[in-house]
Amino acid sequence: MGKISLKQVTKAFGDAEVIPPLDLDINEGEFVVFVGPSGCGKSTLLRLIAGLEDVSSGTIEIDGQNATEVPPAKRGLAMVFQSYALYPHMSVRKNIAFPLKMAKMDPAEQERRVTAAAKVLNLTDYLDRRPGQLSGGQRQRVAIGRAIVREPAAFLFDEPLSNLDAALRVNMRLEISELHQSLATTMIYVTHDQVEAMTMADKIVVLRAGRIEQVGTPLELYRTPANQFVAGFIGSPK
Ligand code: ADP
Ligand code: MG
Repeated sequence: MGKISLKQVTKAFGDAEVIPPLDLDINEGEFVVFVGPSGCGKSTLLRLIAGLEDVSSGTIEIDGQNATEVPPAKRGLAMVFQSYALYPHMSVRKNIAFPLKMAKMDPAEQERRVTAAAKVLNLTDYLDRRPGQLSGGQRQRVAIGRAIVREPAAFLFDEPLSNLDAALRVNMRLEISELHQSLATTMIYVTHDQVEAMTMADKIVVLRAGRIEQVGTPLELYRTPANQFVAGFIGSPK
């Protein structure tokens, strides 16, 4: 579960081709980071995978099935939004259960999944609070909890920590890495932060103007950057 392949995927907005033909394979259980400067197409690529944008051409396969025409809710992926996407008037429990309620899941199963997610995220004691009564890190965990309960084939994160302060960011980075270890689910994580990329990724995809400059482990990119752009971006001495 969680193998994702992009084959000759392109995306244009009007006349602007934001993603030229792109091929990429993401393996089951991998933590893949898309990194690159602002405007290089990271969010667009993630939204194409999520189905929030339609590809202009090419195909996206999820676990061997052509998902290009499959609507977002049916792709089996969960996008984690920044914590401010929580409902302020609902309890933590209701926020986390929200996607299950929308799917009209059996209430006992909803409760089982919320309880399990809260345990993984250390939110068990906070289920009856509202988001406004939580710290920034706890709110971010609730946003992640809402993704976990769907038991997705892959998690998609778009700069989830960008509105947290520096200390909390370091903390959440570790928590997300630990979560990846315990769930062993594919995660695709978008950031413009080299440190996040280098510390969290199994595999880094360096993007520039919608093109893949290099794909590799943090060590490979550091030791053998494909070009000056990668070297400069990753901060390797070459
Ligand atoms: P990143 O997430 O790497 O900062 P984006 O994927 O948001 O970059 O944007 C890549 C390019 O696509 C940018 O030039 C941006 O202006 C353009 N773009 C993104 N979304 C749209 C849209 N809905 N309509 C037109 N242009 C868009
Ligand atoms: Mg973006």
